Amino acid sequence: MSFGRGAKVWAEEKELGWIEAEVVEVRDKSFVVETPQRKKVSVSVEKLLPRDPDAEHGGVDDMTKLTYLNEPGVLYNLARRYGLNEIYTYTGSILIAVNPFKKLPHLYNEHMMEQYKGIQFGELSPHVFAVADASYRAMMCEGRSQSILVSGESGAGKTETTKLIMQYLTYVGGRAVFDNRSVEQQVLESNPLLEAFGNARTIRNDNSSRFGKFVEIQFDANGRISGAAIRTYLLERSRVVQISDHERNYHCFYQLCASGKDAEKFKVGHPSSFHYLNQSKTYELDGISNAHEYLKTRRAMDIVGISLDDQEAVFRTIAGILHLGNIEFSPGNEHDSSAVKDKVSKFHLQMAAKLFMCDAELLHKTLCTRSIQTHEGNIVKALDCSAAAAGRDVLAKTLYAQIFDWLVDNINKSVGQDLNSKMQIGVLDIYGFECFKNNSFEQFCINFANEKLQQHFNEHVFKMEQEEYKNEEINWSYIEFIDNHDVVNLIEKKPFGIISLLDEACMFPKSTHETFSTKLFQNFRNHSRLEKPKFSETDFTVSHYAGKVTYQTETFLEKNRDYVIVEHRSLISSSKCRFISGLFDSFPEETSRSSYKFSSVASRFKQQLQALMETLNSTEPHYVRCVKPNSLNCPQKFENLSVLHQLRCGGVLEAIRISLAGYPSRRTYSEFLDRFGLLVLEHMDGIQTAAEEAKHVEVSKLQKSLELLHAELNAAKFVIDGECNRSSSLLSE
Ligand code: ADP
Ligand code: MG
Repeated sequence: MSFGRGAKVWAEEKELGWIEAEVVEVRDKSFVVETPQRKKVSVSVEKLLPRDPDAEHGGVDDMTKLTYLNEPGVLYNLARRYGLNEIYTYTGSILIAVNPFKKLPHLYNEHMMEQYKGIQFGELSPHVFAVADASYRAMMCEGRSQSILVSGESGAGKTETTKLIMQYLTYVGGRAVFDNRSVEQQVLESNPLLEAFGNARTIRNDNSSRFGKFVEIQFDANGRISGAAIRTYLLERSRVVQISDHERNYHCFYQLCASGKDAEKFKVGHPSSFHYLNQSKTYELDGISNAHEYLKTRRAMDIVGISLDDQEAVFRTIAGILHLGNIEFSPGNEHDSSAVKDKVSKFHLQMAAKLFMCDAELLHKTLCTRSIQTHEGNIVKALDCSAAAAGRDVLAKTLYAQIFDWLVDNINKSVGQDLNSKMQIGVLDIYGFECFKNNSFEQFCINFANEKLQQHFNEHVFKMEQEEYKNEEINWSYIEFIDNHDVVNLIEKKPFGIISLLDEACMFPKSTHETFSTKLFQNFRNHSRLEKPKFSETDFTVSHYAGKVTYQTETFLEKNRDYVIVEHRSLISSSKCRFISGLFDSFPEETSRSSYKFSSVASRFKQQLQALMETLNSTEPHYVRCVKPNSLNCPQKFENLSVLHQLRCGGVLEAIRISLAGYPSRRTYSEFLDRFGLLVLEHMDGIQTAAEEAKHVEVSKLQKSLELLHAELNAAKFVIDGECNRSSSLLSE
């Protein structure tokens, strides 16, 4: 593109991404532009983009209405709207939601839900209710299942958005009379329950979900909610035993500590007295009372139908995990053996055993020894202190993860699935793309999930665009979009994808992360998406669709192994508490290490994702992209660079590029006439009638009128940048 003097432009800039400017001098290969602060800078043409000189102060509610649909245009439009508390903006059918970081109650009350009920998409201001309503209407009209995919980085507002969607769907699909245990009430109450056990404070978000979630709401033929099912993905297990500064363990632990009578009963004191909680000195959350939250969790358990006995058992096990974490070891009498360290540790061991309702001596043995099968029979091997502590942590993590799965199963059982339902709306709330200083197995799995979702998104947006042109019978040649098949294959392909190689490494006891990395680089020496970073022998870098991520492999093997240690299983199944003894029933055993039975976290996750993709593919998707405007979690602060990064990762800019490759702006015939009709006033009468009747009469009449308009336009040799070009190409079809 070329710019003349006086042209209004966006100039690329380091700190703000893009800044507003005006061309003041045209040179041979560059331009001198002036900013509103009267600063003059010389820039090359690649760093300039056209800017709409009369962009409205309030921005536009749909990006496709921008005169110039480019990156800075999109960015500044969001920023402008955010400044006015307009947190929602459409990009065609994708909803962008910028986290307000403050309560906006007027946006979400019943009156608002009523407003959006049955409204034409785009008629009212953009809103998450509009997306929920559009999916509900589409489901009712077409009888086809829908899905709403909510994505964004941690703290961007995914979970809040998901809850609003569920709130809306239960509003339009709920029964008029509310008993406390109706399906819709149970669906809503499953949120605080899952959050108590699956959410934690992180440095990014006080209430960060540490698991992925797909909630499927089922409807009967009348559009009433008839059942629901929740699927969860990959709970972060390591948090149970290890937390970093300023973060917290799962909320339920602190709730229990503040629960008064229950805490007393289980000998649970202040969180600072437990190793699993005091590794970080953060115990409280701003504006939240742990005691009050405990009552809310118990109430939610009531509503989803968990019996009082089971509720008690759940919290008793949680207390047991805390005591378990306080058991320390010192070297035992024999070489490389361990013993429970001191009186305090012994007390916690007794307490843990009591709470798990199992024998204290058996717990002791389980923690300090392993039995090994040999040809001569079983021999007992002592564990050294660090092995004993590691085993203790594995037991705590496995128990916790099983409690979480039990809760999900129970919610599902009590809400009840409607197996006859033919129409569902699924809402996906899953962790966004992650790239930290140190990235481990968790990030690898999370980013794999995001690659799969991105692939789904690309294919869908692309297909939708194609269909639109086909319907309008417009010729166009498609420019390719960034295809991420190769990364997905690199990760999941059998038998030589990263996951397969990792599983193989996990099956051979002699493998280490070093041998795994060597194998990886041997297999993918020339792969364009995989690199070996300069300063490490064992890290690997993957070029994801959203950028490069370097993974540290040290704990990959250990985290990928998915079985219960035999001793742990015997201990737990010996519990006199029915709830506890059943916890490991569904879990594969350590002994099933033969290849066909081998189960790994990554391949199980891969299967879950595959099933999710199959579900999503059978539905009509809707997308909500949540954006975190700043890293301080505060209102009214908009950081350009970070937002740009998120728009790129969320595929928003890619979707825009796809639509730019075709026709970025869409006008209905009548809007088109409003704008250009004045050029052919003498023909307007006929055209208008045709436009109004267009839905009812044959289109040919309208076409005729438009042809007239086209001829007129040509004669006038009007060239109105962009829009007019599009109009005439539309007309020439
Ligand atoms: P994510 O699930 O993406 O990690 P959350 O949904 O937990 O993020 O949102 C993080 C925080 O941001 C919430 O605890 C809440 O304080 C705030 N927030 C998010 N969305 C909204 C909203 N629509 N209105 C008000 N506050 C919000
Ligand atoms: Mg969340």
